[in-house]
Amino acid sequence: MKIPLVDLLAQYKSIQPQIDEAIQRVLQSAHFILGEEVRRFEESFGDYVGAADCVGVASGTAALQLAFLACGVGPGDEVITSAHTFVATVEAIWHVGAKPVFVDIDPLTYTLDPSQVETAITTRTRAILPVHLYGQPADLAPLLDIARRHNLWLIEDAAQAHGAEYNGKRCGAIGHLACFSFYPGKNLGAYGDAGAVTGNDLSLLNKVRKLRDHGRTSKYEHDELGYGERLDSLQAAILGAKMPFLKTWTESRREAASGYRQLLGQTHLTLPYEANNRRHVYHLYVVRTPHRDALLAHLQKDGIQAGIHYPTPVHFQPVYRKLNYPEMRLPETEQAAREVLSLPLYPELGSEQLEFIAHSIQEFEKKIEN
Ligand SMILES: *Cc1c(COP(=O)(O)O)cnc(C)c1O
Repeated sequence: MKIPLVDLLAQYKSIQPQIDEAIQRVLQSAHFILGEEVRRFEESFGDYVGAADCVGVASGTAALQLAFLACGVGPGDEVITSAHTFVATVEAIWHVGAKPVFVDIDPLTYTLDPSQVETAITTRTRAILPVHLYGQPADLAPLLDIARRHNLWLIEDAAQAHGAEYNGKRCGAIGHLACFSFYPGKNLGAYGDAGAVTGNDLSLLNKVRKLRDHGRTSKYEHDELGYGERLDSLQAAILGAKMPFLKTWTESRREAASGYRQLLGQTHLTLPYEANNRRHVYHLYVVRTPHRDALLAHLQKDGIQAGIHYPTPVHFQPVYRKLNYPEMRLPETEQAAREVLSLPLYPELGSEQLEFIAHSIQEFEKKIEN
């Protein structure tokens, strides 16, 4: 048996008629950028996350950058975020000219530790950017409280958290703005790059809408320095065709996660922790073990593709050393980077495959005990 980390082909095959119909519809319309398809998807995704509006953009990275620009975050400003994330989170901060300030994670949820945020605030701090990593929301209530007291923007990196909930509310309109990615492997994935910004503040979202399309006020008038970060119609139509399945796919992910929990309960692995006021959507199923690298090699030998998200914290990346984090230490972040391992997880993953993976892990544990 060969088990991939994600299986995009299995998903396509399960909804091929709907996808093919959506693609044909766009080809026949000969309208490829923005337009009705994009607007329809924006409305549908905005409704799904419970936001007043949604603006489709070219990628999750663009979503983050345009969100900061809309909020006026720029040179001389500081943005607090975590270093245990995909590099795009931090890239967006640097690209708008602001300085990323790293705060350690809570080791149970791998998300920004609110108890360490306040001491990182300076007179230059303008925003907090929590990442809903692996599909579990960051602890938003205390972060919102800090943001309110210090007059800061709270922007959610929801790239991995489509449908995730905090205190019964979907991520997407809890902070001032939320940024989603529809990269193919995300819980809702396009067949190319795509992203969105959602929220309840229409003036901020209209600013994002203008910035994504060259600062246009009309066809030939531009009153703002804009960007070419539009969502294209094909990707919007594909995403729209997938929307009706997102709820079922999320439930399948949660079922696979609970399957793992039962099968791996007796092993020495630390399994994902779901905080009781949060609904985890398991973009990734991340376990941890001090024997991470050996387990990864063992699984690979059995044809099981596991992954590491992420092996190098952002403050240790060569390019970020230029930002001068001389003595910076983030103990929980650094330990997580050494120990985390993502097991295969996708909606189509069956119980036979789960059992095969669990068996391989149990064999590994017998081997290292002897
Ligand atoms: C995927 C991802 C992004 C970037 O999204 P793209 O669509 O690939 O640009 C940003 N942040 C996190 C946490 C992500 O997982």
